[in-house]
Amino acid sequence: MTTQFPSLSPEQKKELSDIAQRIVAPGKGILAADESTGTMGKRLQKINVENNEENRRTFRDLLFSAVDPNCIGGIIFFHETLYQMSDKGVLFPQVIKDKGIVVGIKVDKGTAGLNGTDGETTTQGLDGLSERCAQYKKDGCDFAKWRCVLKISDACPSDLAIAENANVLARYASICQQNGLVPIVEPEILPDGDHDLLRTQYVTEKVLAATYKALNDHHVYLEGTLLKPNMVTAGHSCPKKFTPQEVGMATVTALRRTVPAAVPGITFLSGGQSEEEATQNLNAMNQTSLHRPWKLSFSYGRALQASALAAWKGKAANKQLAQDAFTSRAKSNGLASKGKYTAVSSDDQASMQSLHTANYVY
Ligand code: 13P
Repeated sequence: MTTQFPSLSPEQKKELSDIAQRIVAPGKGILAADESTGTMGKRLQKINVENNEENRRTFRDLLFSAVDPNCIGGIIFFHETLYQMSDKGVLFPQVIKDKGIVVGIKVDKGTAGLNGTDGETTTQGLDGLSERCAQYKKDGCDFAKWRCVLKISDACPSDLAIAENANVLARYASICQQNGLVPIVEPEILPDGDHDLLRTQYVTEKVLAATYKALNDHHVYLEGTLLKPNMVTAGHSCPKKFTPQEVGMATVTALRRTVPAAVPGITFLSGGQSEEEATQNLNAMNQTSLHRPWKLSFSYGRALQASALAAWKGKAANKQLAQDAFTSRAKSNGLASKGKYTAVSSDDQASMQSLHTANYVY
């Protein structure tokens, strides 16, 4: 029989659980602005903007100066952004904190292949993680993110990929908590493939069950964590299309079977869905008749930024337009996190466009 020796004091536990609760306070979710330099490059290329430090800073300044704390409870930063300043010369973490929003940081170092599998991966970055977390805490961060990636095919995810990714997420979560950071646990199952909704639900249940077993094995304090999963959607190339109500029901069913009620919040990634789809699916989940012991909210990257980027085009003259696009998406998602979003029929084609990229690297 395993025995738990003390790891976190009551004060540490309280701090972690308070942070997690603040991030997912009613009507709030997360802005994921932690795209790596390479991923930002691909985004900027689409609008013909050079991928340099100043342009990345300018776009993030546009987002951070407009962000509404009534619908955004936390923002995830990339290392570079944490040490950049706003146009007004204030460090970005301070700009965010002054609005009452919690500062987060991506701490993983990307994926690495698992030999002998069909192209599956684990995620790297445990070496020196404790020291990096301690420094980030000093520099104003209160939560962290680590993304693991799984995929669906006839042979995937393998037992090895499920076990390895669950374990590395649990080890990361334990290290974060020792350093006062709430870990966002992200086992993302990619939407690539032509599988149907039921197959994604089955795989999501297997992955989440393994993840929570590992978190328990590692004595992770669940009240001081957040989960960032994929929604249960059919594969991107599945010929059959499912309604937001079907996606909502499949997702909430999978979560109820696998995620302990002690977890305060589940903040979904958008995973290449269009902005509007991501909002409607979240809204549908929050309208299901099933009991939900956790908050269901968002931690979107693409689905919060796509319209803003398209409106901005790298031009100062478009700043306000871009900010309006961003705040409008954030507001819609805030409403969806309470099941109170009403889809408006509009000619806003951009928000309906799929944001899918095959084999997505963040
Ligand atoms: P998307 O919402 O663009 O999928 O990204 C969120 C994220 O943080 C992935 O790790």
